[in-house]
Amino acid sequence: MRFGVHVSIGKGLPRAVQAAKDLGCDAFQIFSGNPRGWQKKPLAAEDVALFRQKVLDYGLGPVVVHLSYLPNPAAEEDELYAKSIKAITEEYQRAVTIDADYFVVHPGKAGKQDRETALDKVARGVVKILTQVPGRTRFLLENQAGAGTEVGGRLSQLADILKTIAWPERTGLCLDTCHAFAAGYDLRTQEGIDQILMEVESTFGLESIHLLHLNDALGELGSKLDRHTHIGQGKIGLAGFGLFLTDPRLTSLTGILETPQKKPEDDLKNLAVVRRLAAGGER
Ligand SMILES: [Zn+2]
Ligand SMILES: [Zn+2]
Repeated sequence: MRFGVHVSIGKGLPRAVQAAKDLGCDAFQIFSGNPRGWQKKPLAAEDVALFRQKVLDYGLGPVVVHLSYLPNPAAEEDELYAKSIKAITEEYQRAVTIDADYFVVHPGKAGKQDRETALDKVARGVVKILTQVPGRTRFLLENQAGAGTEVGGRLSQLADILKTIAWPERTGLCLDTCHAFAAGYDLRTQEGIDQILMEVESTFGLESIHLLHLNDALGELGSKLDRHTHIGQGKIGLAGFGLFLTDPRLTSLTGILETPQKKPEDDLKNLAVVRRLAAGGER
């Protein structure tokens, strides 16, 4: 398995690649701009060129772009829905421009709509985006914890969206361990891991999983609490991650850490833990 972390682009795109390299990452994830705003500064051509050159020079990949926080592709209100799809289109375009391998999107919140309506809105939005923006960057839907009216807590809901989109060569799934555990999939045991992978297998096939988000969970099983913590220090624990990271169905994938970054050494520690576990080391 290849491993990476989410790195900041606060000091520019080329510096983000350097940060990933300095941490010893194989791969990395970024936002394409300020994640807390709707407006993004235009990408500078020389930054993009230098970014792509450094990615090649260092042999890093896959390169992952995560959607910012505000857009909701399932939004109930027409205005917010339109604004969200426009913003996601722009961010997907930015991911294509920097030649990212994957673009990761949370399927959003349904509000008062019934789930089918919300799932259908997400699917129609993604089709519109992919039609408007050609590119090799694969559009991945991420499973959510299922807090409040979030859609996509159950894998079968994501399967419904992907089936409606019906564009398998440009779409896929990003599986987040914290979200899955909070949504009720017990990743502490082989039975629980078998259950979630069999659900994927029977709905859209294991090959639709393109990326893993590796986060331990602060909340209990089924708590719907989307709170990430360091690998081995949460409720999934070292034993659970040991099983997950050595599962032969997952070992060809890449795992991106989205664990807390309070101290400079946090990422280094978490990378060391997942690499030890993936190598079959002490749990
Ligand atoms: Zn995630
Ligand atoms: Zn999360």
